[in-house]
Amino acid sequence: MNRTPFVAGNWKMNKTAAEARALINVLRDPLRGIAGVEKVVCPPFTSIFAIASLLDGSGVGLGAQDMHWEEKGAFTGEVAPNMVKEFCGYVIVGHSERRAYFSETDETVNRKLRAALKFDLIPIVCVGETLDQYESGLTGEVVSRQMKLGFADVDSAHASRIVVAYEPVWAIGTGKASSGENANYVHAKVIRPALSELFGESNAQAIRILYGGSVTAANASEFFSQSDIDGALVGGASLKPDEFVAIVKSSKESKGE
Ligand code: PEP
Repeated sequence: MNRTPFVAGNWKMNKTAAEARALINVLRDPLRGIAGVEKVVCPPFTSIFAIASLLDGSGVGLGAQDMHWEEKGAFTGEVAPNMVKEFCGYVIVGHSERRAYFSETDETVNRKLRAALKFDLIPIVCVGETLDQYESGLTGEVVSRQMKLGFADVDSAHASRIVVAYEPVWAIGTGKASSGENANYVHAKVIRPALSELFGESNAQAIRILYGGSVTAANASEFFSQSDIDGALVGGASLKPDEFVAIVKSSKESKGE
């Protein structure tokens, strides 16, 4: 199955609006030149509006790092799906930092995922085990449960739009990436079978599954050369223009036609 490679940069809580504009001004032309890869940047909310017009015609999509599932109301500090949709085509859902520091659960992930699909956003849904769970051999069990609960009641008609990111918590921001082989095993033997059970085999084959966790220009090809790794969700390295462009290029070289 030919799946278009997908590389997204999660800027986390970095960059003022002015800094975000400067970063996009450096990234835009090199990224525009790399066809055949779906490229997305996910800045903080305050920079979304600031860079939206700079990305027009660049072939680079814009994503939010989170959103609320409710459409409006008394939810101080939150941002609604239609507010995200005004500027963005994508939204990250269930990042492990949201799960760990902001009480995100599989149930809230599920509400956000269903809201994203309702508002025609492409959700990038994050799953992954902690170091303790990894060391106890619980990766398959934990990720399967996150898939089952996080994806409950999602209509399979929308399934092929979903992007899943496997992000082992122990590899995020630590500089200790998973091996390509280990990540591919989870993609091929845990996540894709779970997607098949949820949405049927042909939908499961169409869904992009990204790896995330200390991806750099130096290790990117180790991931992209694997059969079931369709791209990357990149944190730290997405703030360094040369690194991010090299990662996108690497996905094209390994996966592109
Ligand atoms: C992330 O935040 O999704 C991530 C993968 O971070 P890093 O690349 O810095 O490990």
